[in-house]
Amino acid sequence: QDVINKIAAGEIIVAPVHALKELIENSVDAGATQLEVVVKDGGLKLLQITDNGHGIDKDDLSLLCERFTTSKLKAFEDLQSIETYGFRGEALASISHIAHLTVVTRTAESSCAWRAQYADGKLVPPKPGQSAEPKSQAGRQGTQITVEDLFYSIPTRRRAFRSHSEEYAKIIDMVGRHAIHCAHVGFSCKKHGESARSLQIPVNASTVDRIRAVHGTQIANEVVHWTTSNERWGFKADAWVSNANYSVKKTILLLFINHRAVESSAIKKAIDATYATFLPKGGHPFVYLSLEIEPNRVDVNVHPTKREVNFLNEDEIIEAICDEIRSELAKVDT
Ligand code: ADP
Ligand code: MG
Repeated sequence: QDVINKIAAGEIIVAPVHALKELIENSVDAGATQLEVVVKDGGLKLLQITDNGHGIDKDDLSLLCERFTTSKLKAFEDLQSIETYGFRGEALASISHIAHLTVVTRTAESSCAWRAQYADGKLVPPKPGQSAEPKSQAGRQGTQITVEDLFYSIPTRRRAFRSHSEEYAKIIDMVGRHAIHCAHVGFSCKKHGESARSLQIPVNASTVDRIRAVHGTQIANEVVHWTTSNERWGFKADAWVSNANYSVKKTILLLFINHRAVESSAIKKAIDATYATFLPKGGHPFVYLSLEIEPNRVDVNVHPTKREVNFLNEDEIIEAICDEIRSELAKVDT
């Protein structure tokens, strides 16, 4: 109860991509090495993600969509040392309140898969008069989450999405980010009913191959890889950044902090300023930056809708990263 009271309430899914991000994180947390995404109408009609992770125990299905039900946090003290942001136990609950949610899952121990449907946090029968209890069916190990009619319960929000292709572009971007970051996971993403995939990354692809598949050959040919760590400020950085020969119209910043895709306007601003002296006027960089910061230095209580993260010694850490970028850029500059 204490845990529940201390966690900030209200994970809000603003657009289909936010639901998808939560689902991708869950699959990765479940140890999946293959992740397939199918989308219809920019995710508003259908968002389906199939993974080969460890699956969900049948006994856990009845409480799966209850708020703050998480298998990732046992006590409030864990909040201090939590390695991931996937601790809130609010994503599936939130989704079940604004969409039709179906889960099909099988663990290694189970002799069959189980299908469960949810509304408003609870198991519901697939059709009126039927039982709400999970039903057995054939299926492989892993989990398939199907989100249908997102925002059906908030018609004004649903109507606010004018362009399905815009929402799809955000989804592809989110899958692409994770495909680059999760170097030991295969990804695919396609529109429902189409056989061609918008994105396909084999499980064994290298990071450069992943960057090439998502952002094109030109960027892939001009990125340099570096890592740095700093005990004083308690961080490690692993980065692939474009060199001085390359520039794009808008900064591409793929930022992960402790393996969660996040935004940081402070980092973005500093990176842009660092490149500005090396690139032709109006040119911007490609930067994929994975930061590991001691969890107790990261502020996880920033409001979830903002997706912005703050951390201790932000200025010092950002300066150390920009120093690294500067020395890489100076190498290529002739
Ligand atoms: P959280 O990720 O914060 O724990 P979620 O609402 O996202 O909360 O998920 C609730 C729980 O459902 C997770 O803790 C996990 O046990 C289980 N779960 C969700 N998605 C998957 C998945 N793809 N594979 C295995 N377990 C999952
Ligand atoms: Mg989650």
